[in-house]
Amino acid sequence: MRNVVIIGSGCAGLTAAIYAARANLKPLVLEGHEPGGQLSLTTHVENFPGFPDGIMGPELIENMKRQAERFGTEFKSGAVTEVDLSQRPFTVTVNGEKHQTKTLIVAAGASARLLGLQGEKELIGRGVSTCATCDGYFFRGKPIAVVGGGDSAMEEANFLSRYANRVYLIHRRSEFRASKIMIDRAKANPKVEFLTPYVVEEILSPQGLVTGVKLRNVDTSETKDIELDGVFIAIGHDPNSTVFKGKLEMDESGYLLAKHGSISNVPGVFIAGDVQDHRYRQAVTAAGSGCMAALDAEKFLEEHKDS
Ligand code: NAP
Repeated sequence: MRNVVIIGSGCAGLTAAIYAARANLKPLVLEGHEPGGQLSLTTHVENFPGFPDGIMGPELIENMKRQAERFGTEFKSGAVTEVDLSQRPFTVTVNGEKHQTKTLIVAAGASARLLGLQGEKELIGRGVSTCATCDGYFFRGKPIAVVGGGDSAMEEANFLSRYANRVYLIHRRSEFRASKIMIDRAKANPKVEFLTPYVVEEILSPQGLVTGVKLRNVDTSETKDIELDGVFIAIGHDPNSTVFKGKLEMDESGYLLAKHGSISNVPGVFIAGDVQDHRYRQAVTAAGSGCMAALDAEKFLEEHKDS
């Protein structure tokens, strides 16, 4: 029987583990299908406080893991396939193995959608990015593209125009899902050029770094290459919440709903990080919410000592 099982090993899960381990709760972290979460897929991180010269995402996450281990956190690889939250202790199944726990912290994260192009994932940190706030600064004075037609794409195109000398906004339709005010703002920006209806057929990277994209016009099938240094993919995120359907409250997009910090609709289950956050999505906000979830779990255990 565990005191705390933490689902997810990104910034939120590992911060929860550090706090729970230091409270002597001997947490078990189930690492999930993407150990280390989104930080493990990025390169330089320059906005995490405490690192004036920046730090590589995988190194930051490895440091957090070591910090959690130092205080007695246990790790198991694998993604959770089933949870039973109908009674306490809760049961969590991973790799066919069942774990019973008095409290559960869900920090399963969200995955940025990718276009599904060959080599795209390998180019993350080498010109492909899913986070404008994180990576915009690296493209000062360079041409870049943003792919997508929703509010995120419009917002990122405007944000990135602070750094880039040209921002191509590439969208597969000539109509946009984004709100009118966001579209108008992007259209009024002299650095932003709209390219529709185009799909990215290929990300060009002859030396392993992005040098351009091959586009195909959806109506005419005409293709053209554009030279650029960065491709920001802003086609939405998917919260990793499928196993909690019908068990934890979520919004229509699948983001879990947390009240008063990390509290879910099931007493003893706490929620942290991007699985409940489609607004901020930052490493530091995920870490902060992981801390809250661990403190809430600790308090819950204290209050339910005898049950
Ligand atoms: P979204 O609204 O779901 O838009 C995703 C966009 O990506 C759509 O234009 C979609 O095209 C396109 N897309 C999806 N899959 C694609 C693919 N495989 N290839 C090419 N294009 C693809 O996602 P979002 O923009 O991230 O926004 C998510 C939520 O957050 C929304 O509710 C949004 O309003 C909100 N948000 C609000 C703000 C703000 O108000 N400041 C900022 C950001 C986000 P189609 O349109 O053709 O399907």
